Order: sequence, then structure tokens, then C-alpha cells
Amino acid sequence: MPQTQTAALMDGTALARRIVERSAAVAAAIAQQTGKAPCLATVLVGDDPASVTYVRMKRARCEKAGIRSRHLALPPTTTTAELVDAITALSQDPDVHGILLQHPVGPHIDERAAFEAIAPHKDVDGVTMHSFAAMSFGLPGFVSCTPGGILRLLDEYAVDLAGKRAVVVGRSAILGKPVGMLLLARNATVTYCHSRTTDLASIVGEADVLVAAVGRPRFISGDDIKPGAVVIDAGYNPGNIGDTDFDAAKTRASLITPVPGGVGPMTIAVLLAQTVDAASRQLGLTTLNIH
Ligand code: NAP
Repeated sequence: MPQTQTAALMDGTALARRIVERSAAVAAAIAQQTGKAPCLATVLVGDDPASVTYVRMKRARCEKAGIRSRHLALPPTTTTAELVDAITALSQDPDVHGILLQHPVGPHIDERAAFEAIAPHKDVDGVTMHSFAAMSFGLPGFVSCTPGGILRLLDEYAVDLAGKRAVVVGRSAILGKPVGMLLLARNATVTYCHSRTTDLASIVGEADVLVAAVGRPRFISGDDIKPGAVVIDAGYNPGNIGDTDFDAAKTRASLITPVPGGVGPMTIAVLLAQTVDAASRQLGLTTLNIH
């Protein structure tokens, strides 16, 4: 009978809890020293149920960590110009330290223009071109939250990336592209795969570190995974199913993120961490920098 290896799980729930606890402690210190708690502004256009739930969840987590949230709910008829004006006002408001525009905003709005109205020093969700460029050049700035969470998980489990072959399946602006840039900055040799990639299975089979960011349940077959690989499954599909075939993948990988409880909890944790970091910098308390 073939031997069945079982990968160790990368526990995102536990790591996220520690990051949130640390952020809460920093938020409390900021409030104590300045009389002002950090404040995250959330902006939601329309009433898409999933977006409403995501924003409510993010605000609740903020409040629990001692971060104030200010919510701007805009009607679905909001124009690009109105949204840009609203975000510009938040960018200029000294009482707001971080801004999150919930994606998607609706097809009639120029989402890129809206993101670009976020001042870079308040871009705690890491969505502006400034943040992406800073990340790509290895300069200080806020990272896109899910990719930032993935790197923190890799660090937590002491995964040495230098010289490793990393394969990222997916190239979205919020996930695939930035996670590849962060892996490159750590000296991994990075390959991006996407919907036009040919012979995906053989490229996946070369990955020492595989990031699945496709949005298709069990899209990556366990048989394609290189024995001993580190598998980061960022996918989150209905029924709590990831983008890899977890049961098969865990018999080949050395480390793997479960779904749920892997990458998922890290996203909000990084958002909170970056919000308190933004507040500490804006309030002149750089010694509180949590990084
Ligand atoms: P997305 O914007 O839909 O991007 C999907 C990517 O997958 C695209 O780059 C697409 O390629 C690629 N793709 C589609 N079909 C493919 C195929 N047959 N072969 C190879 N690549 C293919 O999705 P996303 O926002 O990046 O999200 C991806 C997944 O991550 C989803 O399950 C989402 O729920 C999850 N996610 C989780 C978190 C979290 O907090 N845990 C955060 C964000 C996203 P093209 O560019 O060529 O179209």
C-alpha cells in the first residue's frame, strides 16, 4: 500500500487572533496617548448582500479591537464623481486614519478612479496604484490585505522562499498579482498562471510554493502537486471549499492552509494591523509601528 503523507496545517485562525490582539493593544495605547482611537472609514455603494455582510463583519471586528469605524452607505445610483468626492473628503479628514472601499462598486462606476481617491497614507486595504508600486519596488507602504496575510502565514511557519519556485494561479489585482510581487520580493522565482495558461498541471507540478487564487472549487488536483510543496489555498467557494482538492493535496504537501481557517481570517487581521499602523503614523506615534 502507498504511504499516505499528511501535511501539517497552517493555522490562520490562531495567527490572525494574535495579530488582532496585538492590534487591539496598539489601538488602546494610541487612544491612551492621544485621546483618539484609530478610525477606519468603510464605504459601501449599493446593497449587495455579500458586500453588506463583509462590511458589517469588518466593522464589528474593528469595534472589538478598539478601532472606531465610520460607515458611509451610498445608494446604488451613486456616480463616479460623487464617490470620488466622498472618498476625497475622507482622505482629507484628520479624524479618519484608514479608508476601505468595498469591492465591487457596480459596473457604472470607474472603480479604479474611486480607489485612487484614497490617500496613500490611509490606504490600509492596499488597493491604490501607489501601494502596488511601493510594494513592487520594496518601498514602505500598505500591502493588499490577503496577500499580506499569506506572507505572514509563510513567515509564521518559517517557509524559506529564497530560490524556491513559486507558482501563483490567478492574477487578480487584489490577490494573484500582489502575492506574486511579495513572493518575488522574498527572492522566490515566481510564475503566474491564469485562464490563458496552457499546461497548467505541469507548471503546478513544479511549485515548491503554490498559491491557488482562482475562485473555482477544487480546481487544482491533488495529483498535480509536487511532493513536499507548501500549498496556500486562498480560494473561498460556496460550502467552504477551497481552490485545491484538500484531501488529496494534503497527502502530497508538507504544509497546507485549510479552508476555512487558513488564509481567510488573515485578511481582516492585516486590515486591522494596517489601520492601527496608519493611525500611529498619522498621530506621530511611529514608535508604535507594529511591523
Ligand atoms: P478573480 O478576480 O475572479 O480572479 C480569478 C483569477 O483566476 C483570474 O486571474 C483568472 O484568470 C484566473 N482563472 C480563471 N480561470 C482559470 C483557469 N481555468 N486556469 C487558470 N486560471 C484561471 O478572483 P479573486 O478575487 O482573485 O479571488 C480568487 C479566490 O480567492 C476566490 O475564491 C475568492 O473568494 C478568494 N478570495 C479570498 C479572500 C480571503 O480573504 N480569503 C480574499 C480575496 C479573494 P484571468 O485573469 O485570465 O481571467
